[in-house]
Amino acid sequence: MQGAGISVLTHAELQDWVSQALREVGAEAVSGEGSLDAVRAVHSEIFVRAVSKRREALLAAAVAEAALARGRAVFYTGGTIMAGFHAPRMGHAFNAAAYIARRAGAAVVSIDLHFPRGTWELHLEHAFPLLVVYGGVDGPSFGHLVRRGHAVVPLPLPPGAGDESLVRVLAPAIDAAGEPLVVQLGFDIHRDDPTGYLFASELFFYELGRLLSGRAFFISVECPSTPSVFKRSIAALLAGLRGSEPPRVEPHKEGRKVVEEVRRVAGRARKLLERLRRRER
Ligand SMILES: [Zn+2]
Repeated sequence: MQGAGISVLTHAELQDWVSQALREVGAEAVSGEGSLDAVRAVHSEIFVRAVSKRREALLAAAVAEAALARGRAVFYTGGTIMAGFHAPRMGHAFNAAAYIARRAGAAVVSIDLHFPRGTWELHLEHAFPLLVVYGGVDGPSFGHLVRRGHAVVPLPLPPGAGDESLVRVLAPAIDAAGEPLVVQLGFDIHRDDPTGYLFASELFFYELGRLLSGRAFFISVECPSTPSVFKRSIAALLAGLRGSEPPRVEPHKEGRKVVEEVRRVAGRARKLLERLRRRER
């Protein structure tokens, strides 16, 4: 049944506000430690040594294993996108999203204001398909990514891009990426994010939920933005996944220049998506 059986997961020992907010929407608390072998399956020995004394890596591994076992899971491990091949960064002590992608033979779709440096390094190492929506002014260029990557689809967005642009680039991307799908989802793309310049509203998170609702997915919670943005947006995402009512918010009206630039981005991605789709068959 569509919308049925969605797991929201966090670790019992995570006490930050993101975990608390997830508990408020019914998150299950995973307990105990995962294994260092999970960390070793995607990261280098240098990385494993760097995190071997850090409990958060093993807690993240436990959440990743639980998500894999459940399927159709929204999970939080403290963030994954900056955990690279050799270096844990910004407290991201294990790239649970890349680990699940490898185990499940899935593509990764990253949606975040930031370019996911860690996941990119792991893409270069392990060659899982990577579709990446990011703030174009701060990230690497389309050309650089296509020259270096394996099956990579860069979707850099201009400042001011909102709900319509995000859905325009993501609907064909999700379609081409096949199943199951691992999504790294940042909430700093929201228009109320204090440092961001992308203008997603709760409607985008709802639409994303709708796009994923008939599929096998794993959604990793990344940059959470502010408590207010996060709570409204995660509720909208879950409503979309479950097929309940859309949030009542005023959509952002995009400027003509933004719409034109996003059309160009979608156009450049078309061939890459076609290639990915053929690979999926
Ligand atoms: Zn971010």
